[in-house]
Amino acid sequence: TETLHIVGGGMAGSEAAWQAANMGVRVVIHEMRPKVGTFAHQTGDLAEMVCSNSFRSDDDEQNAVGLLHWEMRAAGGLIMEMAETHRLPAGGALAVDREAFSQGVTARLSDHPNVSIEKGEVTALPDDGRWIFATGPLTSQGLGAAIAAETGTDRLAFFDAIAPIVYHDTIDMSQAWMQSRYDKGATEEERTAYLNCPMTKDQYEAFIDALLAADKTEFHEGETATYFDGCLPIEVMAERGRETLRHGPMKPVGLTNPHQPDVKPWAVVQLRRDNALGTLYNIVGFQTKMKYGAQTDVFKMIPGLENASFARLGGIHRNTFLNSPTLLDDQMRLRGKPHIRFAGQITGVEGYVESAAMGLLAGRLAASEILGRPLPAPPQDTAMGALIHHITGGAEAKTFQPMNVNFGLFRPVDGLKGGRRGRRDRYKAYTDRAKAAWTGWLAETEVDAAETV
Ligand code: FAD
Repeated sequence: TETLHIVGGGMAGSEAAWQAANMGVRVVIHEMRPKVGTFAHQTGDLAEMVCSNSFRSDDDEQNAVGLLHWEMRAAGGLIMEMAETHRLPAGGALAVDREAFSQGVTARLSDHPNVSIEKGEVTALPDDGRWIFATGPLTSQGLGAAIAAETGTDRLAFFDAIAPIVYHDTIDMSQAWMQSRYDKGATEEERTAYLNCPMTKDQYEAFIDALLAADKTEFHEGETATYFDGCLPIEVMAERGRETLRHGPMKPVGLTNPHQPDVKPWAVVQLRRDNALGTLYNIVGFQTKMKYGAQTDVFKMIPGLENASFARLGGIHRNTFLNSPTLLDDQMRLRGKPHIRFAGQITGVEGYVESAAMGLLAGRLAASEILGRPLPAPPQDTAMGALIHHITGGAEAKTFQPMNVNFGLFRPVDGLKGGRRGRRDRYKAYTDRAKAAWTGWLAETEVDAAETV
């Protein structure tokens, strides 16, 4: 059978290789380290954790990341198996001994009869063969240029500028309202596309004080600290002048607050729908380098967001990622060059777990194709399916930014209470439904390696 080439032996590439090899497919992993390094990686090992040593929550009933853990374990995932083997005590989180973990992953793959590892940088997108590119947020420059040449430079980003994302059902609509500036738009939907949160002068001044005082994260060495126009962190805008935000993303013009039509707001924070389901809203123009704890404190000062829950917080990082909603099909193949798949963080997911999960899927999808029995995309009600559906179809392509797995990506379960009160039941219902769907998909699609040798 045809060989599967995987470029990048990080979280995604390692898991993809493991899955494909166990299905009986020969795999070559092309990893540039240690010959060529990145500013964050320290070793030549596969699946190196570049920062925190945590795979986050392991709660598979109340947390979407925990559910991804569960789904990966059910699929015999190597990243989860090695994480379990090298687990450290960390309450409800899955933290690991990072060196033992990546050495474990390296050893298991090196010992696998179907896997070989070639050290060296790949700098082109090949014209033939079967490939998965899983080169991550720090994809080498040469390869980045080759990908940009293929996709168009406007569809490959080298930085993310993530505005915080809020669960819609935690916004207080007795203070907020839906309206586009100057009621612009051809349809009612467009005229009411934005969710607005008004501020008085006092609230605005207090908000600016909090922004200026908040704890911020520095850029990592090797990341450029020059911001692109249009993605300045809000705290940097506030440092440039107390009125800058009021003339920028928070300008109060073209909007009338129906709750208080006679009072002109001093400033307005706008949120925009972030997914087709309408469960997630991002705060427009609010990319930030504030620390996570500071972000929740500061953003809860916005009228209407006092009780908001965040699906993800803001950030700005060096991060190479594709505009997947326009470039990838639901099998993670490059439209127009289907012999090339992408996996991991470069597809626009964020985090070790999400990246490994997308690697797991890509490995299975590619191997099945090689074996002549292509798989259906996983059900949307699984965590894997929700995530892949979001990046390849559900997300707004124009404002696409990397995403963590979260319950806002899931289709609602009928007949359950919304809001905070029903949350525990709702999350349990999502995870129960996901587990059943994932078990079903695995049973339907599992290939016995013995059959294929
Ligand atoms: P990676 O794990 O980065 O693997 C990509 C691999 O491809 C690397 O081994 C690289 O050497 C190789 N490669 C790149 N280009 C080429 C090429 N041309 N040819 C051959 N090989 C190549 N996530 C978290 O969950 N928690 C954190 O605390 C966290 N902190 C982070 C801090 C920093 C500074 C960065 C940059 C990222 C951080 N992330 C964190 C994100 C995390 O690194 C990724 O989510 C995860 O590692 C992505 O997995 P991946 O397999 O897509 O990429």
